[in-house]
Amino acid sequence: MDLKSLIRDIPDFPRPGILFRDITTLLRDPDGLRYTIDFLAQKCIELEIQADCIVGMESRGFIFGAPLAYKLGSGFIPVRKRGKLPAAVHSIDYELEYGTDSLEVHQDALSPGRKVLIVDDLLATGGTASATAKLVQKTGCELVGFGFIIELGDLQGRKYLPDIPIISLVEY
Ligand code: 5GP
Repeated sequence: MDLKSLIRDIPDFPRPGILFRDITTLLRDPDGLRYTIDFLAQKCIELEIQADCIVGMESRGFIFGAPLAYKLGSGFIPVRKRGKLPAAVHSIDYELEYGTDSLEVHQDALSPGRKVLIVDDLLATGGTASATAKLVQKTGCELVGFGFIIELGDLQGRKYLPDIPIISLVEY
């Protein structure tokens, strides 16, 4: 299936000069959605990535991470923006283009030795995925891979990620 044909390009969003890859058109397509999750799961199996849990970042990481966890028979753990999780959290600050932001995970969600696969919709500069990796590593878990639907190759985000398998289904 041609996933690119289901991903919509929106020029000048969220700011002038940015070409936003909109995955809502993929999500609303029943065959496209099923194919995407099945393809991601198949790549994990081919690469022998065996994760106890999948960590997905707010918010589009939830959309792909949870069904992938269901399909692979693992648990799902949300990483959220600051102040959203109700119990005690680990936090990490990371740089944005303008300023900084924080990501958080429940302290009791991940215990040392668990194998973790990080999932998000898109890898751009790698800032979000790299911060999530550091957050997961704070818990003593073992990172076993990353899964993305889209990779923006020009931005070379994968250079900033640990040396473990990085799956992306579509590259621009
Ligand atoms: P990075 O931190 O790698 O620069 O950016 C990746 C994060 O920003 C992901 O969480 C992703 O959801 C979001 N993002 C950045 N650009 C786009 C885009 O063009 N389309 C989508 N769907 N998400 C984007």
